[in-house]
Amino acid sequence: MNVNRSRPAISVRNLEVTFTRSSRPVRAVNGVSLDVQAGEAVALLGESGSGKSVTLRSLMRLHDPRTTRLAGTIAIEGDDLLAMTRAELNKLRGGRVAMIFQEPLLALDPVYTVGQQIGEAIRVHRPMSRSEARAEALKLLQAVRIPSPERRLDAYPHEMSGGMRQRAMIAMSLAGGPSVLLADEPTTALDATVQIQVLILLRELQRELGLSIVFVTHDIAAAVEIADRVAVMYGGAIVEEGPVRDLIRSARHPYTIALLNSRSEGGMVRGQRLATIGGSPPDLSQLAPGCSFAPRCAYARQVCSERMPPPTEVSSGHHVRCVLVDPALQAAPMPAGS
Ligand code: SF4
Repeated sequence: MNVNRSRPAISVRNLEVTFTRSSRPVRAVNGVSLDVQAGEAVALLGESGSGKSVTLRSLMRLHDPRTTRLAGTIAIEGDDLLAMTRAELNKLRGGRVAMIFQEPLLALDPVYTVGQQIGEAIRVHRPMSRSEARAEALKLLQAVRIPSPERRLDAYPHEMSGGMRQRAMIAMSLAGGPSVLLADEPTTALDATVQIQVLILLRELQRELGLSIVFVTHDIAAAVEIADRVAVMYGGAIVEEGPVRDLIRSARHPYTIALLNSRSEGGMVRGQRLATIGGSPPDLSQLAPGCSFAPRCAYARQVCSERMPPPTEVSSGHHVRCVLVDPALQAAPMPAGS
């Protein structure tokens, strides 16, 4: 596939997503800006409630418009997503932009065979007969390296293992010939050995088909396996973003450093305690001004609670939002007793 690198596949500017829950606004995403280039894989990394899945679903406008306010801009290959009509959105979803969900058993229909479901997904976007769609579905099952693909065409989802179901769902996501693939924790429900196989498959498909991938995960190892770049989210904002190796080796935001320190390492011994991040993620219905990590941050100072620091580039393409790297704010006084 030829990859158009002249414009980003996805360009998000100042995205804000606010839900109304029990008449109260919940600010789930607060000023996210992100570019994903054609053929690039970007991981959104963070704890539950950090805003990564909400950001991902916004890229397809999947939230209920009656209870969700979207502000900012989202451009998919230059087209304004927030200005699209319902018909335009339906054409985009499953066509140019496809989504892989966390739990394939919930996403696949239990009463149709995998071949029927992939075939119908193909026919929604490409006019062809049922037998032609079945032949295309077989090609997609082969493309996702599913064992015995001819047999799987006539299998029901419950007759397949979790790993095979996830491969079938990836095949279905490719049915409309997407250029952008959104993946919401696609390996979380799988056991460890299958997880790595699915990650490798996604990476191979990305290279073979020139796909742009946005991948949501709380697993740093998964991000390293699949991503060219990582955006770390906290409190609905991107707090650190950069090339994956640079970010893992030279993380600068205290939250990213705490996340990296809390992963289990190969050299750990039995009984050794994992490092944890003290405190809780912020209540997004009561976000205070300033850096939302401040209540959990050992380096917090007065200025941190006054305004969110702007992104500072600390090395090529590596941006951090923290007073510790902001030349204009580093001179701010530390709180008493710190
Ligand atoms: Fe900690 Fe302040 Fe940096 Fe936020 S801005 S991470 S509170 S030092």
